[in-house]
Formats: sequence, structure tokens, C-alpha cells
Amino acid sequence: MTSLVPPECQCPVCREATDHPDRERHRQMNLFLSRLDEQQRRWYVALESKRIGYGGDSLLSQITGMDEKTIRRGREELDSSLEDRPAERVRLPGAGRPAVEKKTRQ
Ligand SMILES: [Zn+2]
Repeated sequence: MTSLVPPECQCPVCREATDHPDRERHRQMNLFLSRLDEQQRRWYVALESKRIGYGGDSLLSQITGMDEKTIRRGREELDSSLEDRPAERVRLPGAGRPAVEKKTRQ
């Protein structure tokens, strides 16, 4: 299986019902996700999860195959208005900055 093929939804509806409106929707969600970059995927799935509310992360994880922790992180990023995620493609500041420890004794 190549990564170009969107994953099939693993939610209960899609696994059991053969003719359910959610089926096509979930298929298109995964199709859409396959064209987004990593952070866009995270935010879209997070949005869908927020719409569902309780249990959303778990369900969206089944539908998209995305880790629940990743979805939660996406929700947190949306909640903080993506402040740590500037629109320009710049590296996040602070990575690997050496800790400066001063030990001055008189
Ligand atoms: Zn489904």
C-alpha cells in the first residue's frame, strides 16, 4: 500500500454499515486529509473533533488513523489561536537553546 492512498475509515459505522451517509463523508475526509500538510491535518481533525465534543478525539482517531494525542494537541493549538504557529514558515524559536547557568559566588 502506498502512502498516496487515503486510509480507510475504521469507525464502527464504516466497518459495519454498507450504505450509510457517514461512509462517503469519512472517505472524503481522509481524501482531503491526504492533500494537507502535517499541521493542517492536525487542525482540521481537531476542528472536527471539537464539533463532536466529548468522545470526538477517539472517534476522529478511528476515522483518520491520527493519534488521539495529536488531535488533542491540535485542539490546544486552535484554542490558543495558533499563537505558537506563525503563518510564515519559520522555525519555532527556542529549540535547542543552551541553558546558561551562572554560578557566581562572592
Ligand atoms: Zn467512518
